[in-house]
Amino acid sequence: MIYLDHAATTALRSEALEAMRPYFSAAFANASAAYRAGRDARRAVDDARAAVARAIGAQRSEVYFTSCGSEADCWALMGVARANPRKRHLLTTKIEHHAVLHTCQALEREGYAVTYLDVDGLGRVSPDAFARAIRPDTLLASVMLANNEVGTIEPVASLAQIAHAHGVLLHTDAVQAVGHIPVDAGALGVDLLSMSAHKFGGPKGVGALYVRDGVRIDNLIYGGAQERGLRAGTENIPGIVGMAAALTLAVDEMRETSAHVASLRDALEGALMQLCGVRVNGDRDNRLPGHLHVSIAGADTAMLLMRLDMADIAASAGSACTSGATERSHVLAAMGRGGAQEADLRFSLGRENTMHQIADTVTVLRQILKR
Ligand code: PLP
Repeated sequence: MIYLDHAATTALRSEALEAMRPYFSAAFANASAAYRAGRDARRAVDDARAAVARAIGAQRSEVYFTSCGSEADCWALMGVARANPRKRHLLTTKIEHHAVLHTCQALEREGYAVTYLDVDGLGRVSPDAFARAIRPDTLLASVMLANNEVGTIEPVASLAQIAHAHGVLLHTDAVQAVGHIPVDAGALGVDLLSMSAHKFGGPKGVGALYVRDGVRIDNLIYGGAQERGLRAGTENIPGIVGMAAALTLAVDEMRETSAHVASLRDALEGALMQLCGVRVNGDRDNRLPGHLHVSIAGADTAMLLMRLDMADIAASAGSACTSGATERSHVLAAMGRGGAQEADLRFSLGRENTMHQIADTVTVLRQILKR
């Protein structure tokens, strides 16, 4: 298989699997147990927390493990809303992942007001529009660091400054960014930041939420005292250890990996642009290094994906959560793109892809489109 869908998920890195392996068998103890095996498990979680904190420019006390990126997003919004009930307006964008958008809708059902900001044709949020949308009762803004469909990177550091000047907290969904571009929570100035292990070579079913020290947040999950009483549930120790191992590798190798995937992406983009009716979506000057999103005039998305699949090439239309569904992408709609007569394809490249695979993909696409 030629796997070109790394934004949907990535293969678990063998080094991460090796780091996880003992915690599935011999070192299976509960990290809350007081005996030695329990203390060892606790140490593994603490070490992983320190590694994740180091990778994103945070303090250990600011990293909380979750079950996935969606939980981190949902917790950030719900938890901050519940802990700070006096202000009842939230600000977000029309291009967020559904983990943010559907949480906002749930908060609207609880009586919160939410403003959904437009983006421009490249998928960029305007800092001026962001500033204008802030109200006296705005509690929290949530703007993703990089978009999962088109790869556009948002000006989150500027937005954090604007938010703070108005006494507003800023959450960023960095699920597509962490492990792929440098992410420093302190330098970005955000208050909360979500990430997910399976997007950077870690296991599925584990994520983390960065919560800047001092930010008030309530639980999403109540129960035991895990994660300093803020996120109950027996720790997924193999997952947490695997996440830290994969993130450490991804950060150490980032320069090399991003140069590699960007060169493949540029080659694929250059070849596709020579085909009739192909248009690139997203901000070509400021997007994730392995991301390429194109619209192809006169073609059908489902047909293209099926033919690629028949040639054993895995790509997608956009977010994993909407592939298979026929509805138009909310991201492309917000960008004023993606007409009915166009096919939308997202290629997201990873470290194991080769130039040979790109050439094969172009050959197959040419044949499909000729037909
Ligand atoms: N946020 C973004 C931008 C994503 O791309 C995804 C996954 O596709 C998520 C959140 C959800 O992450 P998870 O799959 O870990 O729940």
